[in-house]
Amino acid sequence: MSRTFLAIGECMVEMAPSGSGTYKMGFAGDTLNTAWYARKYLGNDWNVGYFTAVGTDQVSSEMLEFLQTANIDVSGIRRLDDRTLGLYLIQLKDGERSFAYWRSQSAARCLAADRQALEASLGQAGLIYFSGITLAILPADDRLTFLEALRAARKKGAQVAFDPNLRPRLWEDAETMRACVTEAAGVCDFVMPSFEDELTHFGDADPKASVERYLAAGAGAVVVKNGPEEVLCARQGALRAFQPRPVSTIVDTTAAGDSFNAAFLAEYLKSENLEAAVAAGAGLAGRVIQHRGALVECLESV
Ligand code: AMP
Repeated sequence: MSRTFLAIGECMVEMAPSGSGTYKMGFAGDTLNTAWYARKYLGNDWNVGYFTAVGTDQVSSEMLEFLQTANIDVSGIRRLDDRTLGLYLIQLKDGERSFAYWRSQSAARCLAADRQALEASLGQAGLIYFSGITLAILPADDRLTFLEALRAARKKGAQVAFDPNLRPRLWEDAETMRACVTEAAGVCDFVMPSFEDELTHFGDADPKASVERYLAAGAGAVVVKNGPEEVLCARQGALRAFQPRPVSTIVDTTAAGDSFNAAFLAEYLKSENLEAAVAAGAGLAGRVIQHRGALVECLESV
C-alpha cells in the first residue's frame, strides 16, 4: 500500500477577533485539521498531502506556505486564476461566538472539476480522507465525479475514510445531503460520524442505529463518536464499544472529531488494532479539547 495519507476538502481563511476591532488571520477547515494531526501522528515513512483548489493570489500562496511549513504535501493542489480562498469571520458578542462566511465562490468548489488532476492525486494515495463538507461544496455533477474517482482509487488498493460532518446549511437541501452522504458511505472503508449530527439530521435513535444505517449503505467499518460517551465500532460483523477517558476541564471542543479521526486512522494504519486506534483517537481528542483553537501542539505525551 502507498504510504500517502491524502485529505481532501476546503481550507479557508479565518479572521478571528484579536481585540480593539482587529482580527488575526489564520487558515482552517475540518479536513485540514485532520491532515495536520495525521502529519503529527504518522511517522516520517508516511507522506501526508492535502488536495483542494486555491487561487493564484497572495493569500492562496500564503495558505500553501502554511501547509508546507506543517510538512503537508501541496504538490497536487490546483491553482485557478479566477478564484480565491473562502473566508469566514468570527464575531464575539457577550462571550458567544458567531460565524459569517464568504465561501460560495471559493476555489475549493472546483476541486473535482478537473477529473484528471483529481484522479492523478487520488491514484498516489494509500489512505484517502474526506468529509461531508468536501461533498457539500461541490456542484452536483462534480460530486458524482468525485465518488467515481474514489471508487477507481479504491480498486487500485487505496483505503477511503469519511466523516459525514453533516452541515445542512452548506447543502441545497437536507434530503440531498442525506442521499449523497449515504451514497458516499458505500464507497468507504471507514465511516466516522459524530452521533450528535446523526441524531439531529438522520433521526437515529442511538449510535447503534447509525452503525447499522452506514453498514447497510455499504461502509466497510463504522466508528461512531459520541462526545464523552462510548465510541461504537463495527467491523467484520463485530460490534465493540470503547469508553474514552474522562476529561475534567474542557476549554474548546473545536476539532475534537477531526483530531480523533486523524489519530484513529494513523494508529490503525500502523497496527490494524481497533482498540489501540480508538485509544489513540480519544487520547488526542481529549487533549485537543483542553486547549483553545483547532490546531493544538499537544502531542508530547500521546
Ligand atoms: P464528538 O465529535 O463530539 O463526538 O467528539 C469526538 C471525540 O472527542 C469523542 O469520541 C471523544 O473521544 C472526544 N471527546 C469529545 N467530547 C468529550 C468530552 N466531553 N470528554 C471526553 N472526550 C470527549
